[in-house]
Amino acid sequence: MSKRKYDYDLFVIGAGSGGVRAGRLAAQLGKCVGVAEESLPGGTCVVRGCVPKKFLVYGADFGEAIEKAKGYGWSTENVSFDWTVLRDSVQKEVNRLSGIYSTILEKNGAELHRERAELVDAHTVRLCTSGETKTAETILIAVGGSPWTPDIKGIEHAIVSDDVFLLPEQPKRMLVIGGGYIACEFAGVFAGLGTDVIQAYRGGRLLNGFDAEVRDEVGQVQIRNGIDTRFNISPTEIRKTDGGYIVSFNDGSKIGTDCVLMATGRRPKTDTLGLDAAGVDVESSGAITVDEFSRTSQPNIYAVGDVTNRVNLTPVAIREGAAFIETVFKDNPTAFDHDDIASAVFTRPPVGTCGVSEGEARRRYGDDVTVYTTQFRPMKNVLSGSEHRCFMKVITKGKQETVIGVHLVGDDSAEMIQMVGIAIKAKLTKADFDATCAVHPTIAEEIVTLKPRELNKTTVVT
Ligand code: NDP
Repeated sequence: MSKRKYDYDLFVIGAGSGGVRAGRLAAQLGKCVGVAEESLPGGTCVVRGCVPKKFLVYGADFGEAIEKAKGYGWSTENVSFDWTVLRDSVQKEVNRLSGIYSTILEKNGAELHRERAELVDAHTVRLCTSGETKTAETILIAVGGSPWTPDIKGIEHAIVSDDVFLLPEQPKRMLVIGGGYIACEFAGVFAGLGTDVIQAYRGGRLLNGFDAEVRDEVGQVQIRNGIDTRFNISPTEIRKTDGGYIVSFNDGSKIGTDCVLMATGRRPKTDTLGLDAAGVDVESSGAITVDEFSRTSQPNIYAVGDVTNRVNLTPVAIREGAAFIETVFKDNPTAFDHDDIASAVFTRPPVGTCGVSEGEARRRYGDDVTVYTTQFRPMKNVLSGSEHRCFMKVITKGKQETVIGVHLVGDDSAEMIQMVGIAIKAKLTKADFDATCAVHPTIAEEIVTLKPRELNKTTVVT
C-alpha cells in the first residue's frame, strides 16, 4: 500500500457555511478531510448571525402581531415580553444546529478539530491548542469575517452584533451606530421588543448601495417602527456614566443610552492566520485575493466565503464551497456566478432585492431603462391599523425589456424575492411577468400588474 504524502487530501480552516459544505462534499467523495474550527461549528450564520437574528426578528414580529390583532377582534391586555426566554430559546436552537453541523462532517468521515488552525507553509497547518501540525495536499480557507469597530475613545464600552444574542438583559435604551444591514435589522428587532432605539448613521440615507427608493422606504420603515433615526453624524467618544453611557458625535451632539451597538461593518478574519508564510496574498481590506475558481495566489490553497469579501452571504459561501469541490476534486472547473444574487434585509417589514438598482441601471444603460413601481397598503394592515406599506420596483433594459432589477420593501418581501430571483436569473422580460396570471388576493400579485412609473401618479419619483 502506498503511503499518503500528506495527512489529508483537504484541510479546511473554518467550519462555517462554506467550509462545512466543502468539507462534507469532499469527504463524501472519499477524500481524507480535516477541518478546524475555533468556535462552535456552523460559523457566523448559525451561531451569531442569520439564524439567531431571524429568530429575534420573529420575536419582534409577534409583539407587533399581538398589538395589531386588536383590529381583528382579539383582546390583548396584560401582554408582556421576557428577553431571557427568547435569548435562551435561541441559544438552545443554535447549539442544536451547531451539533448538526459537527455531525454532518463527522458522519461523512471528516475529522473535526475543535481548535484554531494557522498556516505554517503552503501545505502545513498548526493546530493552536494541541500544538500539532497537519499537512494537506489542498487547503481551503473559510474563516469568514468579524465585526469591525472604529478606534474611538471608549470603544470598549460598545457591543457588536456577536454580543447581542447573549445580552444579560434587554436594554431600556439602545443606540445603534451604522446604516447597513446589521444596524437596520437590530434597530428594528429591539424597537419591536420594546426598547427605545436611536439609530445614528454617518450618511444621509440608510442601506448604502441599495436602490435609492428602497433606501428612502427603509428610512420610513424605521420611523414607523418608532426608531429615532439621526443622519450625518459619526460617534467620537463613548463615556460610561452611573446611569449608562453618553455618546458624543462629530456635530457636537450627545446621546445617552444603556447600550451602544456598533454595527459599522465586518472585516475578513485574516490577521495572524499565517497567510504570509503560506504565500497567500491579501488585499488592503484584509480579504484574501482569489480568482474566479476561488484559488489564491498559492495554487494549492483556496478560499471561500466572507474571508474573500466578494458577496458576503451564507448561500454564496455555500455555492463557492461547492464550486471549489467541482473544480478541485471532480475535474470540472466551476466558477460560481456572483451576478443577480437575491438577498433580503430583515428590517420589519423586510427588503427583498435582486439585480441592479435604478442608479446602476442608468449608469450602465443610460436611457435604455424602464422603471415600474407601485406603493400600496397591504390588505392585512387595513384592519390592523398598521401604517406599514409595500413598495415594489421592477427595472428593465432594452426594447425587449429584460428584467434586470427587482426591489421590494414590505411584508413577505424576503420570500417573494427568492421566486423573482429565478425570473431575473432566467433573463425573463416584463412581457413574461405580464403574461403571468395574478394570484389574488396577495401582495405578490402586484409584481405581475405593474405600470411604468410615469403612469403611476401616486408614486414619488426620486
Ligand atoms: P455594512 O457594510 O452593511 O454597514 C456598515 C455600516 O457602518 C455602514 O452604514 C457604514 O457607513 C457604517 N460605518 C462604517 N464605518 C464607520 C465609521 N467609522 N463610523 C460610523 N459609521 C461607519 O456592514 P454590516 O456590518 O451591517 O454587514 C456586513 C455584511 O454582512 C453585509 O454587507 C452583508 O453582506 C452581511 N449581512 C447580511 C445580512 C442579510 O443578508 N440579511 C444580515 C447581516 C449582514 P457607510 O454606509 O457610509 O459606509
